Amino acid sequence: MNTSVLNPHVMSEGLAIFGGEKVRTKPFSSWPVFGPEEEQRLLRVLRSGKWGKLHGPEVAEFEQRFAAMHGAKHGIGVVNGTVSLRVALMAAGIKAEDEVIVPPYTFLATATAVVEANAVPVFSDIDLETFNLDPKAVEAAITPRTRAIMPVHIAGQPADMRAIMAIASKHNLVVIEDAAHAHGAICAGRPAGSIGHMGSFSFQSSKNLTSGEGGIVVTSDDKLAAACRSIHNCGRIEGGLWYEHHVMSANYRLGEFQGAILNAQLSRLEEQTRTRDSNGQHLAARLSRIPGIYPQKRSADCERHSYHLFLFRIDAKAFGAPRSAILKALEAEGIPVCGGYALPLYRQPLFVNKAFGPYLAQASARLDYSKVRCPNCERICAEQGAWFEQNLFLGDRTDMDDIARAFEKIYEQRTALEDLKP
Ligand SMILES: *Cc1c(COP(=O)(O)O)cnc(C)c1O
Repeated sequence: MNTSVLNPHVMSEGLAIFGGEKVRTKPFSSWPVFGPEEEQRLLRVLRSGKWGKLHGPEVAEFEQRFAAMHGAKHGIGVVNGTVSLRVALMAAGIKAEDEVIVPPYTFLATATAVVEANAVPVFSDIDLETFNLDPKAVEAAITPRTRAIMPVHIAGQPADMRAIMAIASKHNLVVIEDAAHAHGAICAGRPAGSIGHMGSFSFQSSKNLTSGEGGIVVTSDDKLAAACRSIHNCGRIEGGLWYEHHVMSANYRLGEFQGAILNAQLSRLEEQTRTRDSNGQHLAARLSRIPGIYPQKRSADCERHSYHLFLFRIDAKAFGAPRSAILKALEAEGIPVCGGYALPLYRQPLFVNKAFGPYLAQASARLDYSKVRCPNCERICAEQGAWFEQNLFLGDRTDMDDIARAFEKIYEQRTALEDLKP
């Protein structure tokens, strides 16, 4: 390899994990970011006494602004990003025992929202380089029971929506984008969340736009929007009476305090997203030069990556040390890092044991998740995957350079990592 890319001055110091000097002692940017605008809006809601979505202006304003920013006509604010997936599935008319194709490399909710809609999650493998659903695997997973595809824009990089929409239209399937990582991401000129029939976002604490808890469904389809509105509001319909309920549903409404925070947060999203994308691309370019480090490949359609996570793969062979040792060494250098999702979702006890509670009474007998194999996802979970969290990308280039320098230092001194083996 070309060692000239490595910074010579860090090489003289030992690894921090063995008592050497840390590459980084400063903390990275903290999260959440907030200021006087949040305070003012919160106080205004408090003093107005209008704390519920049906009475105040905040959630309504947010729904409109968020939907518009994400290329959609309608937004329906709900309590979290799991419920938003479930509401979208119900609005799409997914029935008991229908199948919904999902990736296995994602947060639990992508699959459990399907179970909560009493439908069967069918796991289809991801691409090793992009970490997103592999359209070929999706097509292979289609059966006569398939009704929907739920791509996740993993880490904030849009899934291959061109291919997924083509498959969906060929097989007459609904597409619900799980955009919980993808606030502000853009795919071939279109905001993530606006490409499928519906898009779902989360505002949970870690997400790129947050009110602690919260979620939204966006869509440009008037009928789907009306269905979502009804489902998130106890089955009421526009123009109906207060105690008049038309469909099975519940109160899933987002509250005004959260709406107030989200309105303030939303004003920062565009700039924060640009910063994350620019820093993320800079770091990806630097890390790509280190043997055995493979940052999530940027797809041609990805116009803007929202970098909720910065995903990468580690080839342990190149370092002569397992992922766990490399991550520990990185932490010791002052770089917070995570090994990513530890299991493909179908390996979670919940799926292996079909612990579906009251759901899927019929389908359960024919399901056997222990037989599912998604080799790329398994390899990433067991050996290769890792990520940095989004707040690391809110600072400047020197933060990225510190991360890269720490990695370079560890690579240079990789033989020392043998001592870390258990
Ligand atoms: C966070 C997340 C969700 C669920 O959001 P909650 O608001 O926590 O319910 C769904 N899908 C993905 C991919 C997520 O990361």
